[in-house]
Amino acid sequence: MNRNVSGFETNQDCAFLGAKGIHQLQTRLLRKHLKLCRKHSPYYRNLLEDFDFSDFQIGNLIKIPTTDKSILSEKNDLFVAVPEDEIRDISFSSGTTGAACRITYTESDLDRLAYNDAIGFASAGIGRGDRVLLTCTIDRCFIAGLAYFMGVRRLGATAIRNGINSLESHADIIARLKPTSIVGVPSFMRHLGIFLKENKIDSRCVKRLICIGEPLRDENLETSALGKQLLQAWSAQIFSTYASSEIVTSFTECSSQCGGHLPPDLAILEILDESGNPLPAGAIGEVTVTPLQVTGMPLIRFRTGDIGFMIDKPCRCGRFSPRIGPIIGRKAQMLKIKGTTIFPTAFFTVLDSSPEIAEYYLEASGDGLSDKVEIFVALKDRGIRLDQVAKRIQAKSRLSVPIRELPVDAVRKNVFSTSRKPVRFFDLRKA
Ligand SMILES: [Zn+2]
Repeated sequence: MNRNVSGFETNQDCAFLGAKGIHQLQTRLLRKHLKLCRKHSPYYRNLLEDFDFSDFQIGNLIKIPTTDKSILSEKNDLFVAVPEDEIRDISFSSGTTGAACRITYTESDLDRLAYNDAIGFASAGIGRGDRVLLTCTIDRCFIAGLAYFMGVRRLGATAIRNGINSLESHADIIARLKPTSIVGVPSFMRHLGIFLKENKIDSRCVKRLICIGEPLRDENLETSALGKQLLQAWSAQIFSTYASSEIVTSFTECSSQCGGHLPPDLAILEILDESGNPLPAGAIGEVTVTPLQVTGMPLIRFRTGDIGFMIDKPCRCGRFSPRIGPIIGRKAQMLKIKGTTIFPTAFFTVLDSSPEIAEYYLEASGDGLSDKVEIFVALKDRGIRLDQVAKRIQAKSRLSVPIRELPVDAVRKNVFSTSRKPVRFFDLRKA
């Protein structure tokens, strides 16, 4: 264990310690974290009053209530665990639903993020001498872009902060500066790769695409349609990541590319069912994270609202840290149609792999008892019939869903206008 300047402990190789070593490390850091929460967080002071943490085990976590975005939003100030003058950055958590929460980061938290992203990038094979093009926002009170920048810097690689910019601008940067890796949203990088090919710009310098916000694998950890399109457009390896502002932790795939590794010294991962009971590895439920060693806004058992599963088998790369599989959907986006429970991603999977479709989005409506879904698509060529797409949707979902054709500009306007990530699901259901 190394103690960093700002106070938190790191052990770069702890993922290789073996299950027992990881368990011992996490147990010790969890006890320390719980004591810190009780001492400094007004929210946790009362909640944890009666607990004895000296012999607390990870399995005892179930005794502590979970928290989520709505509690964090409602009692935002009570979660701040440091005096105002120790806060170094204030960000807002993004999200497709609910009010944005203020998240406060201390010097130590920013240092922890830099370490987290540096080890994540390193596990994907990025190192000193690499040039990393960042195509994500670094300002506007988002933390992710800043964390990636700090991670690249900590790794001794070079950052190229072109941010959210036009295809032409990124193409110019790629031609001139020859980045070796790119960090960005996969559907955008797919557009960029196709644009480079069409304009005969050599992108073979790019060896790795670090993908944020959209999964690249399906439930069997096979490469998704989006992942395959990325592989076609680029001569690069693709790596999936999972992160959120509240959990102050990112999970990045290693060279084996079969789920994002949890950094064991920075977080404990649980998957919970609808009643809050922990589920075994492989079972699908809500991704719940206890971030360790956070000081600005420490949380215990934060329910992310993301639906996914854990993989606990040792990885081919030699790490024993559990991995997170692809996010299957948002809990809030769960649809109940004629007795079938389904997530919008099930439709996305079919639409992403349909060659006829240029762009698409979904609209859900209904009164809360039974939901209705309508799919809006723009076609690559006019005159194509939608029968085949409708048949594929029915085969995958066992549902007959209406599909309506719109001009490509109308679809793109909806998909790209509301958020920095493409939005393909619009929820018009009555709460
Ligand atoms: Zn691995």
